[in-house]
Amino acid sequence: MILLDRVSVMYPNKTVALSGVSLHINPKEFVTIVGASGAGKSTLIRLLIKEEVPTSGKIIVGSIDYDTIDKANIPHLRRRIGVVFQDFKLLPNMTVFENVAFALEVSGVSNREIKRAVPKILQLVGLSEKMHSYPSELSGGEKQRTAIARALVRNPKILIADEPTGNLDPKNSWDIIELLLKINRFGTTVLLTTHNKEIVDALKKRVVTINRGRIIKDEKIGKYSL
Ligand code: ADP
Repeated sequence: MILLDRVSVMYPNKTVALSGVSLHINPKEFVTIVGASGAGKSTLIRLLIKEEVPTSGKIIVGSIDYDTIDKANIPHLRRRIGVVFQDFKLLPNMTVFENVAFALEVSGVSNREIKRAVPKILQLVGLSEKMHSYPSELSGGEKQRTAIARALVRNPKILIADEPTGNLDPKNSWDIIELLLKINRFGTTVLLTTHNKEIVDALKKRVVTINRGRIIKDEKIGKYSL
């Protein structure tokens, strides 16, 4: 569960990025967040991964109250939430396998467990054949699949996909959306931001529309309309 209660964010330069945002997302939901550039989507995502703190309001994710979480627990929180970005953020000098394995290594997972978990997740995202390729040898869609595998390998409850199709052609975009739907069917909450009207309208899922830091629409089966 993700709960935001009257959350506002004002940056030090006095820009109000979010204003009184209340949002309730149930476990296993698939929610798309739309909004023009500058609407506040990235700020919302940065709040959820605790890279940003609200100026006022309350955030609770799962059983974690963001006001009372201590510093030592932030890495734990970040493991519960996987994030993928438009620009993939892969490490160029590591293979697909190593990029995914790295996410486990930094959390102290044993080599034995890494050798078990990584091939499994690469199979899920359809990348078994590319395990030993470097990012420069991959298509955009394959890079995004690697990023998704890296986010998923730690078994997050929530997957945030911030414009995951922004750098992809239509065919690869649909493949990535299909993959997110599959991940959602397996029980992971998915939070997607996108500017792609066709995708939003075809999804027929919940759509939250943000405009100038406020939620102006929240529809169970939403359409893209800015
Ligand atoms: P979006 O992701 O929807 O494009 P953002 O959350 O990035 O929107 O930005 C919301 C507003 O906050 C914009 O007006 C943006 O210029 C401003 N903003 C974003 N980050 C910062 C920051 N670090 N400092 C000051 N203003 C910021």
